Amino acid sequence: MEGRSEVIVQKPETTLKSSPWGVTAQPTVPCSLATVMDEELAREYQKQEEVVDVSILDADKDNSDGISEFLTGDSDLDTSNDLLLAQMLQLEYDKEHDKLLTKEERHFNKDSKVQISFNNYRTVHPAVEDSDDEDSDELEESLYFPVTPTAVSSKKGYIGQGKNITTKHDAATCGRRNASRVVEQFPPGFHSGDSLGMDMQLSNRVYNSLKKHSKSEEKKAQKIADKKEHSTVEQAVDPKTRLLLYKLVNNEILDSVNGIISTGKESVVIHANGGQVETQLVPKECALKVFKTTLNEFRTRDKYIRDDFRFKDRFSKLNPRKIIRMWAEKEMHNLNRMRNAGICCPDVIMLKKHILVLSFIGEDRVPAPKLKDAHLTISDMTVAYEQCIKMMETMYNECNLVHADLSEYNMLWFNSQVCFIDVSQSVEPTHPLALEFLLRDCTNVSKFFSSNGLQGVLKPHDLFNKVTKLNIDADNEKEFLTQIEALQEKRSVEQTMTQEENFAFEYFFEKTRNEKMKEEDSETEDVTSDSV
Ligand code: ADP
Ligand code: MG
Repeated sequence: MEGRSEVIVQKPETTLKSSPWGVTAQPTVPCSLATVMDEELAREYQKQEEVVDVSILDADKDNSDGISEFLTGDSDLDTSNDLLLAQMLQLEYDKEHDKLLTKEERHFNKDSKVQISFNNYRTVHPAVEDSDDEDSDELEESLYFPVTPTAVSSKKGYIGQGKNITTKHDAATCGRRNASRVVEQFPPGFHSGDSLGMDMQLSNRVYNSLKKHSKSEEKKAQKIADKKEHSTVEQAVDPKTRLLLYKLVNNEILDSVNGIISTGKESVVIHANGGQVETQLVPKECALKVFKTTLNEFRTRDKYIRDDFRFKDRFSKLNPRKIIRMWAEKEMHNLNRMRNAGICCPDVIMLKKHILVLSFIGEDRVPAPKLKDAHLTISDMTVAYEQCIKMMETMYNECNLVHADLSEYNMLWFNSQVCFIDVSQSVEPTHPLALEFLLRDCTNVSKFFSSNGLQGVLKPHDLFNKVTKLNIDADNEKEFLTQIEALQEKRSVEQTMTQEENFAFEYFFEKTRNEKMKEEDSETEDVTSDSV
């Protein structure tokens, strides 16, 4: 048997019992220090040991009955180191067994990419195994650490058995798993370098910091995307609006949607070319007033609609998106009223959710200038002023409306005619703040025309009295306002008492309200201008 030559069995000086299992220790004979240190004695011991080594080896070679003697106990061989001997023999046996196993393993796996390890059946610890067996070492490595950089994975979370168990926490396994996660699970745009064909291993620490970095990169990218999205919302052309516009073109109501005419705080006005609704032709040029779906600006305008009798009930019931639509609807109703009373203003072609399709005031895609930008001659200015006063009176007395945002910004000059626009905030005179709004309108109008060199412009209070046919007499602004407030209070009480006897408009508005509420919930809501 191999390795037998390395076995050194020491024969102690004392005679021991012949039993192979039970060796009783002999009492030590006390001796002096001088005796222990004696060189002569040491040399004698050495000689004795050498003799014993040779005699045992010879006996093993020659005496085939050695084992039977050993088992029966008939032999008077020294057995003090039998355990060690047995262990040595076992080790040799195990080594042979493992070599056979390796051969079998190789035969079994052949060139297969997926290699099955017989490692668990090995009995010799790899550290004890012959280090000069290179082949088996190579195989070990390929079994423990696959050549491909994919992570060792198992549903159980470990592979192997007993001492040779390799759990998912194994450093190399973890490293590979982390590396494959970076490739497979990180966002596609994440730059993780080229690890193709490499047995890349990432420690948990590196993996975690990569993950953190990827998350923050993702967030940053999301923020940029949000910003982009937000910027389109800023122009009220958010995806939903775009879809609505697309539908309008697709249904041939519009021929094309062109450039943006104006971007205001609450709306975006876009130029469009009209198509047709059923048999009716849509004007060749249209202005699409898109009410912004962001509520920020409209919140400050609550006061215009919250106390408006027509919208009071609905205001409390609707969600913010529907309130935006109400602004568009409110503008539609107000424009219709004005148009019916002969006031120059855009025609309402159609209302589609928060998009109001209006006739275009202007020509060849050039909108009519605002009064502020029109640079009128004095004679034109006089004409414009007279038209403006007349229109304000009509609006108040016939349309039962106060513009509430009237100024040179919301009056267009087209074909020697003043046109009132932007009436979504306009209210009825019964609105608790209507008269205050009217006074502000009068102040704006008076200021504009007088500052443009026009003579004989009515003072705001006089214009107010002319429009309302009231005769409020006050020495100063404060007193005028106090009287207005008192009047409003009185009107508001009257209004609650006579709510049932409202204008025909209110009656029809109420009547159609419920129908519209239902329509609002349906996705295909279309409210045309002649629906009221
Ligand atoms: P905002 O509430 O944003 O002030 P407006 O109704 O005043 O909305 O419209 C903004 C601008 O768009 C106007 O000043 C005007 O130049 C242009 N505009 C609005 N409606 C029309 C229209 N029907 N025809 C031509 N231009 C229009
Ligand atoms: Mg405006």
